[in-house]
Parts: sequence; C-alpha cells; structure tokens
Amino acid sequence: MANKSRRSERVPPKPPILDGDGNHIHNEILLGLPSTEREFLVPKLEFMRLKTHHVLHEPGDTLKSAYFCNSGLVSILSVFPGGKSVEVGLVGKEGFIGIPLVAGFRTAPTRAISQIEATVFRLSSETLVAALRQCPTLERRLQQFAQIMTMQTTQIAACNRHHEVDERLARWLLMSSDRIESNSVPLTQELLAQMLGTRRSSVTVASGVLQKAGLIAHTRGDVRIIDRRKLEQADCECYGAMRWQIDKWHSEAE
Ligand SMILES: [Zn+2]
Repeated sequence: MANKSRRSERVPPKPPILDGDGNHIHNEILLGLPSTEREFLVPKLEFMRLKTHHVLHEPGDTLKSAYFCNSGLVSILSVFPGGKSVEVGLVGKEGFIGIPLVAGFRTAPTRAISQIEATVFRLSSETLVAALRQCPTLERRLQQFAQIMTMQTTQIAACNRHHEVDERLARWLLMSSDRIESNSVPLTQELLAQMLGTRRSSVTVASGVLQKAGLIAHTRGDVRIIDRRKLEQADCECYGAMRWQIDKWHSEAE
C-alpha cells in the first residue's frame, strides 16, 4: 500500500518516443532534436541489435554507415599493426559512431566495437550527409559530440600514460556505469585489461585493491559498483574532469 501511494504522488513519466516500428529511442542526440528534424530523420533509421564484440568498423574502412547508439557500450579502439589495441573512447546512448562523415571524411581511423550487447539506429553515410544539409540542429549536435570525443580521447591518452591501473579501472567503471545507467557492468578481466591497455594480472591486482576497499564486487564476467561515491574518490581525477567539461559545455551550448 505504501508503495502504491508513493507511486501515485509521482509526476507521471513522459511518454516514450518511438520509431515507426515501436522501438524506444534513448539516444540523447535524437531526443534533443527539434521535432521537425527528428520526424524527418527517424523514418530513415534502421534499428539494430548488436551482440557483444560486433565490429562496426575497422581502421581504414570506408564508412558505409553511421550509428546513433541507443543502449549498451561501444568502445573506440586504437589498433596497432601487430594487433594490440587500447581503448581511446567509450560511447553509449549519448553518442554517435561515424564522426569523420560529419566533417566530409570517409575513412575510419579506429575500430568501433560493442563491448556488451547494444542497440543502435543505423543510417547509410549518404543518408547522413543528405540529412545534415536539411537538419542544422543535428549537424550542430554532431559537431558538439565530435568535440566531446576529442576531449575524452585526449584525457584517456594522458590517463593511460600517467595514472595507476586501479585509478584507470575506477575511471572506466564510472564512465561505463553512466552510459548504461547501471551499477553492474558485465565484463571479464581479460576484456578490462584490453580496454585499459594493460596486462590481465595488473587488472586482477587493481580489481583486488578496489574490492578490498569495499568499492566494487568483481565476479566472473561482472563488475558491480558497491560504493559509487568512494569509487569517484578512488578515480584519478580524469572522470571528474571529463564530467565537469561536458557539463560546462552543455551549459554553454547553443
Ligand atoms: Zn586518469
């Protein structure tokens, strides 16, 4: 009964925004468009479910498609010729894959791969380029997102060079948790090591440090954040710096 009365006092939630097939749109760029631009764009989008480790593009690929991420996590990896890779960006429902197209470029410089199951809205490169001419707010939002990704990549590069693995792990977990709106991130230590550009044994030690402090619980294939406030204190400052900059830019955005 108590629950029922609490529910009845709540402000009713906004009705979900759907595409023509009834799929919920969570992507923040699409949700932030004026309705005229969204109504123009949404019928051109194809909803797709991606399994874990679905590659959207490899370095050197001609970009045939662009994607609005709708749920899950997509990693942007820098890949070396020998096959090693390190994460230089992380995209969730706030973002978009295919940034070079916005500037009139055609080739991908990185690998984009789903880290966990994800959903996206796909559109062809030609459709995107044509839509940018019709939708000034979309173009502006994608330019702004490109700037956010540049800032993120710069911060992550500095973080990977200067900060300890346990701090980087805290940073990664906080970034991931924000994007999927969950305190539980389904990922193995093997993959975490790849993301952080370090050895698996280093991730095991770092994860042990955070577990011992009561900040996370790491079981096979799943990392759960137990104490988010303390985890933010354990982060190297990079997560806070990125959040601050993004909030600041959003407050300035036209
Ligand atoms: Zn850092």
